Amino acid sequence: VERFEVATRARRALVDVTRDVEAACARLGLRDGAAMVYVPHTTAGVLINEGYDPAVAEDLLAALEALLPRGPFRHTEGNSDAHAASVLVGASALVPVAEGRLRLGRWQRVFLCEFDGPRTREVWVAGLGGR
Ligand code: ZN
Repeated sequence: VERFEVATRARRALVDVTRDVEAACARLGLRDGAAMVYVPHTTAGVLINEGYDPAVAEDLLAALEALLPRGPFRHTEGNSDAHAASVLVGASALVPVAEGRLRLGRWQRVFLCEFDGPRTREVWVAGLGGR
């Protein structure tokens, strides 16, 4: 497993980590198989979606916010909307790798999702498959 850190700058943010994931795959020596991108956090997530128009990321965050209003919550930390967004998005994503390259679609990028920032987050990349 390879890891890298991302310092987020807002309470909610989508951060394009595609290049960091590619660099992690290179360090792993992964040639053909898949990369599992994972965040060990309960108020963050990983998703794959459009990275070409940055307005899409903003709209995704707005859609999640509309689905998940901020309280009132039983959880005294007061951030259950962030926990719920993490559950909806998921803590991992699987990306095919062929000939040492991530095989994303033309418009796809890999995003770290921050739902309770700003914080420093860890992203883990596990290589599944051959060298
Ligand atoms: Zn909490």
